[in-house]
Amino acid sequence: MARYTGSVCRLCRREGAKLFLKGDRCYSQKCAFNKRPVPPGMHAQSRRKQSEYGIQLREKQKTRRIYGVLESQFRKYFEMAERMKGVTGENMLSLLERRLDNVVYRLGFADSRAQARQWVMHGHFTINGKKADIPSQLVEVDDVISIKDASKDMENFKALRENGSTSVPKWLDLDNANLAGKVLSLPQREDIDITIAEHLIVEFYSR
Ligand code: SF4
Repeated sequence: MARYTGSVCRLCRREGAKLFLKGDRCYSQKCAFNKRPVPPGMHAQSRRKQSEYGIQLREKQKTRRIYGVLESQFRKYFEMAERMKGVTGENMLSLLERRLDNVVYRLGFADSRAQARQWVMHGHFTINGKKADIPSQLVEVDDVISIKDASKDMENFKALRENGSTSVPKWLDLDNANLAGKVLSLPQREDIDITIAEHLIVEFYSR
């Protein structure tokens, strides 16, 4: 299945929530959802009340779009989460958070997960000193994610080193001076500041 290449702002309007897919623009007056917080399409506003299935589907789609994951991959995370101890929905969110592209974004190395994914694929990062160019790689406790020496002079990274980053989640630690981040612990549900009703996703796949 191909990756979505249309307007990402349209996805926010479709899901009825800001998904923060465009970096700084999402926090500015230019945000399309702030201007027009209604679903796209001519008859969108006259759509009927959603069924239980529709609500579960939308929650699944919203989460998938926030993390930029294809359906087949997303389902694999659900299956992995089901096999783990604990609460399936929370396990699933923890797995999504541990993706390398998400960690790069959370550390403030990229403005959005899409940009993080692209930079990971371009080979700008290492994990524990080894090349890491697979966005879906899951980080482990004590892993150190660094910007490759050859990439440290890129404008975006230079600015980060000079200005510092804003806060990072408590399961990560950022060393601004060395442009490196360490995984202190695996992310728990309370560490994930996204409004997601994960039980709806579990219900969707358990039908
Ligand atoms: Fe969504 Fe960001 Fe576009 Fe706003 S600017 S609609 S939050 S992607």
